Amino acid sequence: MLKFDIEHKDGLARVGIIHTPHGDIKTPAFVGAATRATVKALTMKEMNELGSQAILANTYHLILRPGIELIEEAGGLAEFSSWHKPTFTDSGGFQIFSLPNVKISENGVKFKSHIDGANFELTPESSMQAQWAIGADIHMAFDHLAKSDSYADMEEAMHRTHRWLDRCVTEHKRLREKAASESGQNAFSEGLPERSSARTSAPRPWRRAEATRPEEKVFGQILSREQYLYAVVQGGTFNDLRAESARYCAGKDVDGFGIGGVFTAKNMDEMLKTVNSILPENKPRHLLGMGQEPIDLFVGAEYGCDTFDCVGPTRMARNGSLYTKDGRINIKNAKYAHDFKPLMEDCDCECCKNYTRAYLHHLFRTDEITAKVLASIHNEHFVVSTVDHIRESIMDGTFQDYKNAFLSRYYAK
Ligand SMILES: [Zn+2]
Repeated sequence: MLKFDIEHKDGLARVGIIHTPHGDIKTPAFVGAATRATVKALTMKEMNELGSQAILANTYHLILRPGIELIEEAGGLAEFSSWHKPTFTDSGGFQIFSLPNVKISENGVKFKSHIDGANFELTPESSMQAQWAIGADIHMAFDHLAKSDSYADMEEAMHRTHRWLDRCVTEHKRLREKAASESGQNAFSEGLPERSSARTSAPRPWRRAEATRPEEKVFGQILSREQYLYAVVQGGTFNDLRAESARYCAGKDVDGFGIGGVFTAKNMDEMLKTVNSILPENKPRHLLGMGQEPIDLFVGAEYGCDTFDCVGPTRMARNGSLYTKDGRINIKNAKYAHDFKPLMEDCDCECCKNYTRAYLHHLFRTDEITAKVLASIHNEHFVVSTVDHIRESIMDGTFQDYKNAFLSRYYAK
């Protein structure tokens, strides 16, 4: 079981440490979105220096390119990307269900690559196998995204997600036992054992669907280190479905929980309160895909979420939309052309310590690559350090003061 120590609690909010084979995550923490095994425009050295504790890659994107076998050959996501800290993988369900022409059945989903049109099939089992081969410390169960926000669609997606969760748990357990036996250990010890030398040439089930026969669905290579599984709580914006999903997931043999699906800003607090009051306290909870708006980080932490990920901060950075304590600004606006102040006073990121708004404005106006790099360093640092301060404020009992001061200034405009 994934080791998670809670150091301090304040209502549903908590401060803790998740102990993974690649190191500890002090929570609450913002996890960098490394969809394709890279955080866009940033090196892992920069991610490390701006204070990031963990990254999250996407199984769907890695299946398409460079292919799971290649990551496995490299020794796993951490080794491949040179990120020697904790790693997560999302199952890819969210991205696959957003594709056109996806065929969904009880068994799984068939889809075409958006790159070359090749056919793929992903099931709860093959998603687990792919994630074990990628070798992230923490995996998300393969979940079913609802067709729409309607109650009926949300309920259907939730029930299928629950049935798929059972299959994920079974497959995860099988792979865990296989990895342990291949590494010559009865159970995993602390740290990172050598990866297994046992190899077969059996094709992987996430290869092109037409090339996969049922008898070939043998999993040959998995990274022989301990890896952990989170269930994904569904239910959209419906309180009764959220409660039902949380109860279902809470009863399963998993290491933690992802909270996914659709929220609206208006009822996120209510949904999280419902879910996190039901989930067992001693396991970590990850709020999937939330954190572009600082208020989401405060609400998430206040109502008991431990980690967050979101592509929003770096995506906005690449467009010149940059966080400051007084809200987001568009650095491309003419008024910054002669502004020789740092982007944000009191920010200790590489961008703000060394460069001015006028310089950033120039880089964006001339479409220099460095514009995206510096902007991404700042925005990622902003969300990472905001969550770090949230952790400190929960610890010393000043969370409400910090939240009120931060949000009233940020959203003052
Ligand atoms: Zn900065």
